[in-house]
Amino acid sequence: PSTPPVTVIGLGPMGQAMVRTLLGAGHPVTVWNRTAARAEQVVSAGARPAASPAEAVEAGDLVILSLTDYQAMHDILDGAAASLPGRTLVNLSSDTPSATRDAATWARAHGAAFLTGGMMVPAPMVGTDRSYLYVSGDEEAFEAHQATLGRLGQVRFLGEDPGRSQLMYQAHLDVFLTALSGFAHATALVGSAGITAEEFLPEVVELFRAIPDMIAADGMDALGARIDAGDHSDRGSNLTMMGATADHVHAASEAVGIDTALPRAVQEHYHRQLVEGRGAEGWTRIIDGIRAPRK
Ligand code: NDP
Repeated sequence: PSTPPVTVIGLGPMGQAMVRTLLGAGHPVTVWNRTAARAEQVVSAGARPAASPAEAVEAGDLVILSLTDYQAMHDILDGAAASLPGRTLVNLSSDTPSATRDAATWARAHGAAFLTGGMMVPAPMVGTDRSYLYVSGDEEAFEAHQATLGRLGQVRFLGEDPGRSQLMYQAHLDVFLTALSGFAHATALVGSAGITAEEFLPEVVELFRAIPDMIAADGMDALGARIDAGDHSDRGSNLTMMGATADHVHAASEAVGIDTALPRAVQEHYHRQLVEGRGAEGWTRIIDGIRAPRK
């Protein structure tokens, strides 16, 4: 059938959003959550509550996990290992690539196919046309369940290495979290002169949206290709100019007494290259220092 049964284990905001999306698409959904009360809303919406993790796993071939980390999967499924043979586990919880790879080895040892991944949008956006997820691991299992996983969002399969989708997820969070800290830091900086967040954020978000055009007038693919080729030639933002700017952000932060750890980290990226005499090169050269941190 085009709407096979699905089990969802873990009913935080993300798990609940997945259940609602799968129910909406017509899949029978069985759920289990450590804190049973958290299942109430999705059960009212039509999900079937399982009495135990083993019963949840046995409800179908496809078991999706949405938990705080990979340890939580072991806490839940170690006692239900006898029910695993022949099933496909899709763990969409965040953790490190190595914890992810270890879990894949564990699952295979118990006779289950294993896919890992991450939802790349917040819970309210799951199932919308802006939703997407990275998945990697057992390719045959992926092909068998691709259509069902596609209900959650556009699926981007990254190959057999189970750690790869997790790394992709962490890399996105790297950009996201650094950007959020940048927003908070800049808001504190202008706040020192009485500029409110309400005034500032709508202004600065324009710059944020323009970043792709600012750093790659010929497109992000072209920028990526140059970085891959080690071509860091200056295209209008050389290291001397950018490094001076980084110094100014740091000095301005220090002068008003706000935290300087973030601007210092940025400044360090430029200084690492400037001491090597690379001031005339483009800003992308900073990746070399990031790849080889000082011991
Ligand atoms: P949480 O990260 O709060 O996950 C909570 C779930 O994990 C609950 O079901 C909780 O059970 C369960 N859990 C945690 N530890 C254990 C344990 N030791 N044993 C059993 N169950 C455990 O909620 P989210 O739904 O927000 O996130 C789930 C995953 O989705 C995370 O990996 C997150 O990074 C990812 N994600 C979330 C997004 C979001 O918008 N929320 C966006 C993108 C990704 P209990 O209810 O009993 O506490």
